[in-house]
Parts: sequence; structure tokens; C-alpha cells
Amino acid sequence: MVKYIFITGGVLSSVGKGIVSASTGLLLKAMGYNVGIIKIDPYINVDAGTMNPYMHGEVFVTEDGGETDLDLGHYERFLDVNLTKDHNLTTGKVYYSVIEKERRGDYLGQTVQIIPHITNEIKEHIRDVARRTGVDVLIVEIGGTVGDIEGLPFLEAARQMKLEEGLHDTFFIHVALAPILSTTGEQKTKPVQHSVQELRRIGIQPNAIVVRTQRPLEREARRKIALYATLPERAVFSDHDVEYIYEVPLLLAEQKYHEYIAEGLKLEAREPDLSKWINFVERLKNTSHEVIIGMVGKYTKLKDSYISIIEAIRHASALLEVKPKLKWIEATDIELGKLNVEDALSDVDGAVVLPGFGRRGAEGKIKAIQYLRENKIPMLGICFGMQLTVVEFARNVVGLDRANSTEIDPHTPYPVVDLLPSQKDIDRLGGTMRLGASPIRLVRGTKAYDLYRSDVIYERHRHRYEVNERYIDKLEAAGLVISGWSPEGLVEIIELRERDHPFLLATQPHPEYKSRPLRPSPPYVGLIRATLR
Ligand code: GLN
Repeated sequence: MVKYIFITGGVLSSVGKGIVSASTGLLLKAMGYNVGIIKIDPYINVDAGTMNPYMHGEVFVTEDGGETDLDLGHYERFLDVNLTKDHNLTTGKVYYSVIEKERRGDYLGQTVQIIPHITNEIKEHIRDVARRTGVDVLIVEIGGTVGDIEGLPFLEAARQMKLEEGLHDTFFIHVALAPILSTTGEQKTKPVQHSVQELRRIGIQPNAIVVRTQRPLEREARRKIALYATLPERAVFSDHDVEYIYEVPLLLAEQKYHEYIAEGLKLEAREPDLSKWINFVERLKNTSHEVIIGMVGKYTKLKDSYISIIEAIRHASALLEVKPKLKWIEATDIELGKLNVEDALSDVDGAVVLPGFGRRGAEGKIKAIQYLRENKIPMLGICFGMQLTVVEFARNVVGLDRANSTEIDPHTPYPVVDLLPSQKDIDRLGGTMRLGASPIRLVRGTKAYDLYRSDVIYERHRHRYEVNERYIDKLEAAGLVISGWSPEGLVEIIELRERDHPFLLATQPHPEYKSRPLRPSPPYVGLIRATLR
């Protein structure tokens, strides 16, 4: 028997519903249950791959090559599991599938409608994931806020599941914001009450409410929310601001959140084993030795664009007991001469040259890489950051003037980075990059090998361009070390020798996607360790 937990949101989006969902999963897993978690995104894009990170934040890539919502990254990090593209359901995916069925003739004779066809498709998808993954509990986070037009079919499907599943097999958690008035300092509960009313209007009575608020929920606020939501006070939980998102599961556990859920779902209430997690959080909070990490990128205004990288830096830093201070460096400002590269980078202990797409900002990143290489500052290049590291090396070390990636300059005399052969005939941009995890063979005696301590690793990709094999000999002859190869002979990891640079390593894949609090990603550990020398 699978148990389903639906998590809805009220008042505002982006209040941390994803973290509450991930924390719920972590606590149930720590109780010994097998937990899965799905994110529903009610937009019409089939997946997040075609969305601008400026608006939507990072695209999180799963092991099987799904381009998903960044909340899946939180889920994987909190639950320490690998999810799949099926763990992110969008309106686009649901309609795509229903329309395909209609064209095939599966609904012959019927009028295809939102209820029951769309809602059935949603329910089937959810149950199918539960069945195929064999979980005890499947958490379903419904994105957006209650009352959004887009979200209605999903909420309707959830409501029907309450009816169709066993009496104690579904549980509804509503996450809503209680703002604090700056003038009086009062914690206001009315928006929460209204969003619960909205939820009930659709036919869903929540079983628990998690209140997002700046400071601990006051007694009177809790009493009011419980009363208006027709719930006991112990069903209302305070999710107030904490320093690190990783503290949220502990905050909820203190309030016996997991016990209340287990009771509601008639699950045996086991004591969660949180010792390792507590230890990790303590290391995060109690370190004082600060290192400055330059973050060289193009979307530096919306930090969510690089969330997995930020978290990977945190995981590695917790392991090595340092406190990372991120210094955001906008590559377009360097490119336009608004920011001097020396002013930007002379005080950093290390830097990450961030992933990206397109021409804007690329020359700024190349300047930054040159500075980091010449001044022997530890640096890690990721994806586009790796490709531009090759461009910089080709220009300034090999001496190939105006060398470039054809993504930036299609007419460059030296296309050291070029479209992957498999990308040449592609005419649709959705879901067609080189995506997901694939094997990488590491070369013994290199930094990459030292960090991973394994002959073959799997990291996740998301790119169309790649180091041009025609230039490999020239690059190697000038001192660039290729330390990771794909089975097809694509360059996956590059580095400089210890005698040339203390730590310059760059990867075509995105190792940050697989970084976990208790298992930090090796290249990030390498970078942070290098900053300490
Ligand atoms: N724009 C580059 C490519 O498509 C790099 C992509 C990335 O950084 N994720 O290959």
C-alpha cells in the first residue's frame, strides 16, 4: 500500500515549499521508509529545459537526462536519491500525452475533457511512478499557489485521489506565508486563513499547515490558524527563517512534525535517525575560517540560476570545515569594461567559472580565466566554463589568435570548441542537448583521478558543444592535460599540471548535480581544498 502526501502552497510562491517537501521526505526516510517525491509544475512547457534561468532559476538535470525544476535538486540533496524525468510532471507533459492518445484513437467516440481525461492522466502518472519505484510513501508537491488557474486540474486530481485511495492513505500539507508587518511587528495570519479557505473551496481540507514566517510562530497566531483551518493546534507548524535550508528538517522534527504525519497516515511512528544530518548542519554552522570564492557568470542577479553549484560549494566546505563567502562577478561587466578583472578577482581564494549559453559575457569570462590562470588562483570551470578555459588556453598559451567556440564566433579561424557531431542535424531545441549521466574514463596520475579515486565515473551533461578533436594534439603539446574521456573520445575533464598551476580543473559535465550534503562532489572538494593552501 502506497501512502500519498500532497503539498500545496498558499499566499505567495517561492516561500520554500520545495524545502518543506524535501524536509518531509528526509524525515520519513530517516524513519526507515522508502520515500519518493514528485514535483508538479503547472506551466505549459513540457520541461524546464527551454526556460530562461533568469526567470525560472536553474534547470536541474537528472541521471536519465530530464531537464527539470530546481526543486528536484533539493529533493535529491535532502533524500540522497536519484530521481528521474518522471518525477517532474508539467501541464505540457500531461496534455502532450493526452493529445497523442487522442490522435492514436484511444478515446474513440469520446469528447476529450479536462475532467476526466486530464485528471485521469495526472492520477495515472502519479500512481505509475509509485508503482514502478516501489516506494512506501510518495510525496507530491504541487507548484504555484492555490487559486492559480493553471493548478486547478492537479488539485482536482489530488482531491479525487483522496476519495479513491484508502481512508488513511493520503495526507494534505498546506504551506503558506504569515507576513510580519514592519510597522507593528505583528505576525498576520489572515492570508493563511484565506488560502486555506481557497483550498477548501476546491474540496481539499488540509491535514496540516506549515507556516512560513520570519520568526517563530506565536501562540496566538497558531491558535487562530488552527481554529480557522479546523485543525488541532499541533497540526500547525512553524517554519521560520533559519540560516541554512538544511536546518528545516530539524526545525520540523523538533515540533514532532513527522509523528503527526505518521499518525495521520497510520504509519508506525519510528524514531528518525538524524545523527549524520545533525552533524553536517553543525559543521556548516560552526566553522569560522572564511574563504572567498569568485563566482564568474552571467546570471549573477538571480542566484537561483546556480543553486546546485552553490550547494556543492557548501557541501565541500562543510567537509573541509571552512565557511565559503561567495563573491558574484558579472562576466558581462568585465566584457563591457565596467569592471576591471583585477578588481574583481585579486582578492578571491578560488573561483568557479560558471556554465552558460551564448555570446554575451563570454569574452568577460575568458578574461577572468586568463587572470586566474596567470595568477595561479585555484579555479574550477563548469561546462561553458570548461569550453572557455580551452579557448583561453588556445589563444594565450598555444598561440592560436582569435581561437573560439563556434557558439560565440561561427567564423573563427580556430574552432577549438565546436558543435557535437550528434547535434549537427537537430532542428528542435526542446530536450535535444546531450543530456544526463554517462561514463567518463579517468586518466591515472591526474588531479581528476586523485579526486574521484576511480577509473570510471558517471556525471551528468547538458550541452551541445564540445572540444574539437582536431585541436587535441596542439592543446596537449602546450601543456593542457586531458584527464577525463567519454567512451566516444569526447573531452570530459581538463586540468593543468601541478607545476603549472596549483589547481585549474574544468569539467564538461556538471558534477554539482550529484553533490550531496554527506557526499560532496570531488571537483568541488578539490577546489575548496586548493583554496586552503
Ligand atoms: N553553451 C555550451 C554548450 O551548449 C555550454 C552549456 C552549459 O554550460 N551548460 O555546449
